[in-house]
Amino acid sequence: MTETPEFELAIIGGGFTGLTAGLIAARAGLNVKLFDRMGPGGQLINIDRVDNYPGLPTGIAGYELGPAALEQALDAGVKIDYGEIDGLTFDGEHWQLITNTGVVTAYAVIVATGSELAKLGLDGEEELHGSGISYCATCDAEFFRDQDIMVVGGGDSGLDEVLVLAPVVRSITLVTRGELDGAATTVNAVRALENVTIHCNTTLTELHGTAQLEGVSVIHRENGETAHLKVSGLFIYVGLNANTSLLEGLIPLDTAGHAQVDIMMATEQPGLFVAGDLRAGSVRLLASCAGDGATAAVAAERYIRSTLG
Ligand SMILES: Cc1cc2nc3c(=O)[nH]c(=O)nc-3n(C[C@H](O)[C@H](O)[C@H](O)COP(=O)(O)OP(=O)(O)OC[C@H]3O[C@@H](n4cnc5c(N)ncnc54)[C@H](O)[C@@H]3O)c2cc1C
Repeated sequence: MTETPEFELAIIGGGFTGLTAGLIAARAGLNVKLFDRMGPGGQLINIDRVDNYPGLPTGIAGYELGPAALEQALDAGVKIDYGEIDGLTFDGEHWQLITNTGVVTAYAVIVATGSELAKLGLDGEEELHGSGISYCATCDAEFFRDQDIMVVGGGDSGLDEVLVLAPVVRSITLVTRGELDGAATTVNAVRALENVTIHCNTTLTELHGTAQLEGVSVIHRENGETAHLKVSGLFIYVGLNANTSLLEGLIPLDTAGHAQVDIMMATEQPGLFVAGDLRAGSVRLLASCAGDGATAAVAAERYIRSTLG
């Protein structure tokens, strides 16, 4: 018999899924450690308004819901570590989580590492992040007050961010590689804005500026016309990438990197659960993340109790 692990349950990811899992597991009496590399909340920080979470008919800002969920998890007894997990291994009995300061052990692990906003992949994108380029209108709109800016992405996320930015900036050029494909009400609200110009079937090809973004080049995907547009801000919403690296080689992933789990969020590895945006088949809503987190916590508790006999 190896040594008793440091924690009964470790949770990787402190988005809405991980915080819910922590709350439910700690209230069930488990000794829970939760790791997040950014500070809890995950994608909640990008949401200006949540209107579709049951029980909150007047809505709530994502950046208010995150701290509230964190406080509730802490009150329940969850211990939080603001650190990144770099690796995950199983010795046949316990799980080992590798951090840059050492190894943490647990009987069971819930991976809720969610997704990250995708990058355009253009030269200069990383260097200009924070110097004209942003992935969060709620966080950064005020820096661009009365300026001419561009939003890339015609899905719900991009359109929502246009609605946040429009009252603050002077003008927005909205560029999308296809057509606008968000919810009809959001598309209509964006089309009604006087300071927004929409360019469909258009792709960004180049970023201009070294210390600060000065403009971009675009190409029309059908007629091949190119243009150079002078903008001081660029907000990018071109999809999400699953944070999947910890699971590679451990369990089957689909082509987008989402993990296959059963209805209790269990994977084929004993004591390893995956929940929230990261699991295959998730509808990627806060309501489903709460359900996934709660389910994984109950399943992990049953697994741990059966392991302990
Ligand atoms: C702009 C936008 C608007 C949205 N609006 C709505 C809405 O109105 N209503 C709705 O229901 N849903 C909405 N969603 C979807 C919803 O926000 C997500 O489904 C949900 O937040 C996902 O939660 P999660 O906990 O599964 O993942 P995430 O929120 O992605 O959290 C994952 C966490 O894991 C951490 N992490 C990742 N890797 C590691 C690692 N190796 N070590 C430590 N920590 C790690 C990250 O730092 C992050 O905090 C929106 C999403 C976006 C982007």
